Amino acid sequence: MQEYYNMGHAVNMEGSFNSEVVIIGGGLSGLTAAALLARAGKAVSPFE
Ligand SMILES: Cc1cc2nc3c(=O)[nH]c(=O)nc-3n(C[C@H](O)[C@H](O)[C@H](O)COP(=O)(O)OP(=O)(O)OC[C@H]3O[C@@H](n4cnc5c(N)ncnc54)[C@H](O)[C@@H]3O)c2cc1C
Repeated sequence: MQEYYNMGHAVNMEGSFNSEVVIIGGGLSGLTAAALLARAGKAVSPFE
């Protein structure tokens, strides 16, 4: 089973994943929001 890692959280693309915030789009705004939320302790999964 292949796993992807985003901001320290494992994402299983075959099934479910654990995340408090999903960000669609890895541009400047999305990655900035993801970094700030991760620093604030949220489990963030950006999708590009
Ligand atoms: C030619 C050009 C030159 C520029 N030069 C400058 C500059 O010198 N200085 C400056 O400050 N700004 C510049 N800008 C503007 C700057 O690029 C944008 O303001 C900035 O990138 C906007 O960031 P964003 O995160 O809102 O959008 P984007 O950077 O566009 O990010 C959006 C992301 O969402 C992704 N996405 C879209 N749809 C989906 C989907 N359905 N699912 C998943 N992902 C998706 C896209 O692939 C993209 O990665 C320039 C823009 C252009 C086009």
